[in-house]
Amino acid sequence: MRNYESWGRYPKATHDVLRMDWRDMALPPDSGKSMLPFGNGRSYGDCCLNDQGTLVATRGLDRFMTFDAGTGILRCEAGVLLSEVLELVVPRGWFPPVTPGTQFVTIGGAVANDVHGKNHHRAGTFGRHVNRFELLRSDGTRLQCSSTENSDWFCATVGGLGLTGLITWVELQLKAISGPLIDQESIRYGRLEEFFQLSLESDATYEYTVAWIDCAASGDSFGRGLFFRANHAPVTAATRTPRQRRLAVPFTPPFSLINGLSLRAFNELYFRRAREGNAIVHYEPYFYPLDAVGEWNRIYGPRGFLQYQCVVPPAAAEAAVTELLKRIAASGTGSFLAVLKVFADRAPAGILSFPRAGTTLALDFPNRGAATFSLLDRLDDIVAAAGGAVYPAKDARMSGVRFRQYFPHWQSMLPRIDPKFSSGFWRRVME
Ligand SMILES: Cc1cc2nc3c(=O)[nH]c(=O)nc-3n(C[C@H](O)[C@H](O)[C@H](O)COP(=O)(O)OP(=O)(O)OC[C@H]3O[C@@H](n4cnc5c(N)ncnc54)[C@H](O)[C@@H]3O)c2cc1C
Repeated sequence: MRNYESWGRYPKATHDVLRMDWRDMALPPDSGKSMLPFGNGRSYGDCCLNDQGTLVATRGLDRFMTFDAGTGILRCEAGVLLSEVLELVVPRGWFPPVTPGTQFVTIGGAVANDVHGKNHHRAGTFGRHVNRFELLRSDGTRLQCSSTENSDWFCATVGGLGLTGLITWVELQLKAISGPLIDQESIRYGRLEEFFQLSLESDATYEYTVAWIDCAASGDSFGRGLFFRANHAPVTAATRTPRQRRLAVPFTPPFSLINGLSLRAFNELYFRRAREGNAIVHYEPYFYPLDAVGEWNRIYGPRGFLQYQCVVPPAAAEAAVTELLKRIAASGTGSFLAVLKVFADRAPAGILSFPRAGTTLALDFPNRGAATFSLLDRLDDIVAAAGGAVYPAKDARMSGVRFRQYFPHWQSMLPRIDPKFSSGFWRRVME
């Protein structure tokens, strides 16, 4: 029996589970409980949870339907994992047009959160590359949706957090590549302004840009980090490029292994030991370094953890990120996994799509109860004052007031929400 929990292992929830194994299956009959599609539980908070309700588990929808190796158009069921897509298409010279930092998401989940990757400045979000999909509503209606057919349903469902119905299959336009290798460069930077400078000069010539930031640093070290920029390597790049070895955290320790001391020590070591310069690497360690450690979410102990990912608009970015980092460093908490990236100004694919022009900061916090929630509320104050937003895929606690500020078009979603669908996230922000 698999556990239907989210990646942050907070909040806890209890569900009835219905497995969807065939795309022509009907949704469960009305039991008086609401339902919600569940992909692979790689969302951190409660957008994939439906406490006391029904989860419609989609991993059984795992079939490829059509793939044209000439055009790179792939049609597959919604429960296919991105890792399975990669296995099929990379040897044939194609790559997902946008990929999040784990390959263990379903294609349906990637659409429903309109995920983004290190190439947002070039490619926008995942939804931009979806040609069409089928949406199954609780009344049995099946809608084919694209930017020209049922386009209102398309925009509500891309980034729609599973609330408009169940996506049964998706057709995607993949991106041509010459091979599985990535040509990456790592650059150490000492101050936040250098990060912005590096982003500015790299976005035109590098397809992928992202930075790690030392969120525990203060004083002279404040704002330091590592900037990574990369392109797909030409086919001639010859090198030994191992795929990733996989380890796993075998059990949940009784308490979080991440504390202020271990975090500062780890960050110091990571910053000092990092190898600068160019390297040709396999796409797995480049895009999915965290996937090398199975169930790494256990290191935060039984109470789980919360991820906080926000975006702040360009004009306010440097000041707001500085304030956020100072607040986090002063709290003595935060995580090794702190990521900074500049998003480009691209029209959102969905009504509730999170990415927008600005700088995004993402990091994990061990769940220490009230102290953690209070810190995240203070971070919200900074983000809201800057005119930014917090990512629902990573969230387990934002208030309804904040949600409506962050997503001013939320009311356009209401007529598209399936009356039998709901989630923990949605009930919270609609309170
Ligand atoms: C290590 C790690 C790194 C990550 N990096 C990134 C990143 O770089 N960028 C980014 O954007 N995200 C990132 N994420 C978040 C992740 O990409 C998203 O949360 C993604 O949506 C998870 O997909 P899933 O299949 O696990 O879906 P779930 O988490 O199970 O569900 C996510 C949402 O999709 C809905 N849903 C799932 N399947 C369907 C369906 N068939 N029809 C309708 N709705 C459906 C659910 O109801 C829920 O609202 C990361 C997560 C992890 C754990």
